[in-house]
Amino acid sequence: MISLLDKKIEFLKGVGPKKALILQKELGVTTFEDLLFCFPFRYVDKSKIHLASEINDDSVYYQLVGTVGNVRSHGVPRATRITADFTDESGSIELVWFKGLSWVKNRFIPGQRYVIFGKASSFNNKFNFVHPDIEDYNPDDFTIGESLQGVYNTSEVMKNNGLGTKKLAQLIKNILFLSSGMFKEVLPVSILKAHQLIAREEAIFQIHLPSSADKLQKAIERLKFEEYFFFQLHLLRNKLEHDKVVKSFPFTSVGHLFNDFFHHHLPFPLTNAQKRVIREIRIDLGSGRQMNRLLQGDVGSGKTIVALMVMLLALDNGFQAALMAPTEILANQHFASISDLLRNMPVKVALLTGSTRAKDRKVLHQALNDGSLQLLIGTHALIEDTVVFKQLGLVIIDEQHRFGVAQRARMYEKSDMPPHILVMTATPIPRTLAMTQYGDLDYSQIDEMPPGRKAVETIHLFHSQRLRMIGFLKKQIALGRQIYIVYPLIKESEKLDLINLMEGYDALLRDFPEPEYRICMVHGQMKAEDKDFEMQRFVKGQAHIMVATTVIEVGVNIPNASVMVIEHADRFGLSQLHQLRGRVGRGADQSYCILMTDFKLTADGRKRMQTMVSTSDGFKIAEVDLQLRGPGETQGTRQSGALEFKLGNLAKDEHLIRLVRKTVTELLENDNRLQQYENQCVRIQYEKLFKKQYDWSMIG
Ligand code: ADP
Ligand code: MG
Repeated sequence: MISLLDKKIEFLKGVGPKKALILQKELGVTTFEDLLFCFPFRYVDKSKIHLASEINDDSVYYQLVGTVGNVRSHGVPRATRITADFTDESGSIELVWFKGLSWVKNRFIPGQRYVIFGKASSFNNKFNFVHPDIEDYNPDDFTIGESLQGVYNTSEVMKNNGLGTKKLAQLIKNILFLSSGMFKEVLPVSILKAHQLIAREEAIFQIHLPSSADKLQKAIERLKFEEYFFFQLHLLRNKLEHDKVVKSFPFTSVGHLFNDFFHHHLPFPLTNAQKRVIREIRIDLGSGRQMNRLLQGDVGSGKTIVALMVMLLALDNGFQAALMAPTEILANQHFASISDLLRNMPVKVALLTGSTRAKDRKVLHQALNDGSLQLLIGTHALIEDTVVFKQLGLVIIDEQHRFGVAQRARMYEKSDMPPHILVMTATPIPRTLAMTQYGDLDYSQIDEMPPGRKAVETIHLFHSQRLRMIGFLKKQIALGRQIYIVYPLIKESEKLDLINLMEGYDALLRDFPEPEYRICMVHGQMKAEDKDFEMQRFVKGQAHIMVATTVIEVGVNIPNASVMVIEHADRFGLSQLHQLRGRVGRGADQSYCILMTDFKLTADGRKRMQTMVSTSDGFKIAEVDLQLRGPGETQGTRQSGALEFKLGNLAKDEHLIRLVRKTVTELLENDNRLQQYENQCVRIQYEKLFKKQYDWSMIG
């Protein structure tokens, strides 16, 4: 027999086929149970009826009771807006609609009382309600003991089809009463006890129809715990499964090349963090299971040398290694610095990018094939099918967020057994993200900067202070320093962006006339060889200023460049700003970052500027970024959307996520297949939630 909870929503009284379709489309709801898992996103005190005269705060929800009259259309020939006056004993307030106009027009009966519920917005110094929820007033609705009322997410389409928040509340209430006693517990009793969680059924009831603020709190705690619990279970099970099944070549020996480099060719002592990370990776590589590890280290923390030493380990064990970078510039730079580090060592390194000539390519392919070429550096030209290795044992991917999961998976095919994979990213990842998003990868972190770095001094200037900026740059140039000036991609079209950049460039030419000053330029639409030519002018010190779009964001290392000017800085996200700033401060000189913006800034934009000025700690910046933008938008996010929790909030739940992760780890340590009696409920729920995803989850 099909459980009531699995019934199609269409069969719920008051729904029907049309509304069912809308619920499916707008909320993804197909069954009774699905609807119960649409939780309120906030609550109003339903016993509280406000007066129109009390409305005094923007963006606050109010509930009013009164009449609606004076409905009028605006706009000719077709109405584009309808307004009406809502009136109670204290006064009036305007209601506004932009959509569903014909419905609104005939909605109200003069003299009848309605309950209006909505968010006040101020317009021309007066408050109004745009698209409020409206219901006929029924005094019985305002019963005592059920004073907190859930407010549900609805869309315009839903509202226009009689699925406003109150209707949803009513439908949900019906299901709750019908399904009483049908909810099975999904967490083991011991876990419920240990964390003082209330029963599932009670939680679901209370989250919709809280009998007190306290009970509501308990309900949210319980359901949030559950949400994170199954997510972590999924991650940790995948990891367990992966570790067991996917074998790779064990790198058992730390051999000649590694030792030789370590003892004789290190250009500087490694930081403790670099040493620790190399050790972590070495242990992992020796274990026989395939390594899938994320190496996180802020810009300038010294990931390159770690990558090199790990690759030497592969070579010592008779394997080839590859290092893949997202842009040609970065691949070139890696090639240059690694060739330099290896100059006195018997290791063959080559570069392969889109610009490698066919003739050279052929030679290179041959050398990879016969194993005489040990170390390959390149862009995603590396993963083309024509590139065949003799024995590829390790792939390092730099700046991972630019590579898709699919591209990563293609590296697996380059070898009989999947090679070990190390993903390096300079994007500091907030701990909560590391534990959720990347929870199925192992994780190493370089949390220490090489000694002697001076913090980059960061200044925020308005466009009106431009002269001050120019004057400052001239002084820096006189001191022999070089300068980056970065423009954001602003417009939709690349052409317009280019125009923007060119205008900026022309203005700079006026401020910094040749031949006294020399400016070079790099942008996304240049041919690789032109880009390279311009880059080289800057690298060699032939140009004082490099004007660029964000192509320099990733990886470029020019120690003499000591000033980074970011135009329209408010158009960049925090992690991008942080990355850009990381381009300077690499040499011995005091470095500067100048953030240029308009005087007018959004609150969010201002917060970003303040954050940049006040800290250089990548983790702090990442935390603020997460708070401001949410996990879906935060850089370093593997796929946006993958991290949308119903109740969980990654910006706030670090403590809880830790707790849950620990709980799940312990559970799996005791019973990794969930076979114990007490854990049956977990297994059943797990399979229900992840059945579809289970197969592909092994790859990620
Ligand atoms: P990132 O982590 O951003 O890739 P790099 O590997 O490019 O950083 O290193 C940044 C700079 O710091 C390079 O010039 C590098 O030579 C230098 N560096 C790296 N490790 C150390 C160290 N332990 N001591 C001194 N300088 C270091
Ligand atoms: Mg780097």
